[in-house]
Amino acid sequence: MSLSNPLPFKERVEQALNDPFLRQSLKNAQARFREGKQKAGQALGNLEEWRTRAEAIRRHTIEHLDYYLDLFATNVEKNGGTVFFAETEQEAVEYLIRLAKAKQAQTVIKSKSMVSEETHVNHRLEEIGVEAIESDLGEYIIQLAKEMPSHIIAPAIHKNRKQIAQLFSAVAGEELPEDTSALTRFARHQLRDKFLNANIGISGCNFAVAETGSIVLVSNEGNARLTTTLPKTHVVMMGMERIVPTWEDLDAVLSLLPRSATGQKITSYVTALTGPRRENDQDGPEEMHVIIVDNGRSNALGTDYQSILHCIRCGACLNVCPVYRHIGGHAYGSVYPGPIGAVLTPVLKGFDQWEELPYASSLCGACTEACPVKIPLHDMLIDLRRDEVGQKRSPWIERLAFRLFGAAMKYPALYRLGLKMAKYLLRPQAGEEGFLNKGPGPLKAWTQARDFPAPAPESFREWWERQGRHGGEPHGR
Ligand code: SF4
Repeated sequence: MSLSNPLPFKERVEQALNDPFLRQSLKNAQARFREGKQKAGQALGNLEEWRTRAEAIRRHTIEHLDYYLDLFATNVEKNGGTVFFAETEQEAVEYLIRLAKAKQAQTVIKSKSMVSEETHVNHRLEEIGVEAIESDLGEYIIQLAKEMPSHIIAPAIHKNRKQIAQLFSAVAGEELPEDTSALTRFARHQLRDKFLNANIGISGCNFAVAETGSIVLVSNEGNARLTTTLPKTHVVMMGMERIVPTWEDLDAVLSLLPRSATGQKITSYVTALTGPRRENDQDGPEEMHVIIVDNGRSNALGTDYQSILHCIRCGACLNVCPVYRHIGGHAYGSVYPGPIGAVLTPVLKGFDQWEELPYASSLCGACTEACPVKIPLHDMLIDLRRDEVGQKRSPWIERLAFRLFGAAMKYPALYRLGLKMAKYLLRPQAGEEGFLNKGPGPLKAWTQARDFPAPAPESFREWWERQGRHGGEPHGR
């Protein structure tokens, strides 16, 4: 199954570009997040040292992932939990379905989990008649809208108050005011009952601490705590790269995650869970199942893309990306949007449906600069483009153009002929300002949105020769 969205890339981008509200709200949100991050980074002081330390921790962990996964799994089981390694999305979901059937579950409550989005858990549970309810407010909104998240940490960033009021009014069966407090109150009231009646709680996992087999969750709404303590069965869905070796290591990455994500020093709730309820505990789930999901992640191990597994899903790269600012998350088509998604999605799933994503970047490098664990995102985007060209996936016209360019660079006479032809073919098509607005053939689409200067009336070579002829030595010699 794909990571999502059936529309072709160009159509998704066009849809987004034609949505002025989306573009304005992304611009505002990016500015807010960036300012918050900057302040929080300054307050931390030596941010670069923290980034270097966090990068070293992530690198070490991923280089020894087999060891730390084994240690983590052993400790989860020692704590009374159950671990299941799922190689594929299918295996992960089938385990969950078996569990839901064994528990005769009717309702499952979820806190935010990108892996559960990636594996289409809600949809698959609904197919067997189990109601799956998102409890994170943003996720709840997009669930009602039947949409994908459009940002890693702010899934409903593309929705305004009016749209949210309409969605909630449809559930309420009456018109609700476009008032943030009233809408939040309504969602809380709706979700409270679901929490109390859910048979299973599904959470994600921000970090998994190997040395004690603990799951660490960060949230701002408290819903993760209710999800993981009220239902009798707690299921954790985690990507296999979520591991950190020790609590000391957690300190470094946890210091950077909220600062990079929302500009907070710390999120409102940081929850650490070490196994299910013990004998003398007053509350907590009776069972804890940890599903560790590969789903293509091991494709990255041992390759140029291994460091994409260092990602801590902070969303900082989205918050600085000029392409994301214009097209938003849905245009990427994947549950992972922005620069991280443009790299991660083809790495997880191959190029078949995702060959455009490495091109959804201006390669300005802002993402790499923003990344708290120093993932060289823009270098990876170039590498992915190189791989695509190596696999002959680029359009034939582009390949032909580059072949001709290569030949022209090799043979000066051919280069000169090319320049002359370009001048005679393209200059007549230029507008008054000297730009081509409607290029011929394949240039047509390109020039619709970009300025393409027409070739100069006289090339440098021609000028140089003319100077030599009329003035003896050309100027500057
Ligand atoms: S790639 Fe870096 S900046 Fe982007 S989400 Fe991951 S950790 Fe954050």
